[in-house]
Amino acid sequence: GDKRALLRSSVREFLDFPSPGICFRDITPILKDPTAFSAAIDLFESYLRDHFPKIDLIAGLDSRGFLFGPALAQRFGIGFVLIRKKGKLPGPTECVSYSLEYGKAEIEIQVDAVDPGQKVVIIDDLLATGGTMAAACELLKRRNADIVACLVVIELSPLKGAEKLKSYPVHALLQYD
Ligand code: IMP
Repeated sequence: GDKRALLRSSVREFLDFPSPGICFRDITPILKDPTAFSAAIDLFESYLRDHFPKIDLIAGLDSRGFLFGPALAQRFGIGFVLIRKKGKLPGPTECVSYSLEYGKAEIEIQVDAVDPGQKVVIIDDLLATGGTMAAACELLKRRNADIVACLVVIELSPLKGAEKLKSYPVHALLQYD
């Protein structure tokens, strides 16, 4: 529809960023244009309303999940919590490590962010290999959350990230080849 077309026209590509051979999809123009940003939040909201009767919480991934999550949570009158790179959150945290193309990464959540059984939607800007989103699912599962769905603005389809998340619904507003 019109909203998806507007969103697609608001994504820029940068070749050789952050390293040679990589084509980086930049979502910052979506944030700069309030109409495009509303379109993104509208599309996420209708997907969730059409598929899931009850959601308790939105969890955003560091750092661009933080840009979309709070606005979406406001539409439902629910809270937003942060899943961050290790070492950024004070107090008791739960941590998971996962492998990257080169090396390892760790993400964590404050243990009081989610109550057992809460229905949680995870959100990020982009799904590539799915490693980050899978780690976030593992983290929330360890806190006994009920993961409802994983949302992203962009899915890089050839990387088959959704296959890594096969037990959870994944919804992307835009797919790129
Ligand atoms: P994955 O773990 O391989 O799925 O990578 C997804 C993570 O890397 C997300 O947190 C994204 O924000 C980030 N990422 C990877 N590629 C891009 C890109 O082209 N644009 C923006 N973010 C990206």
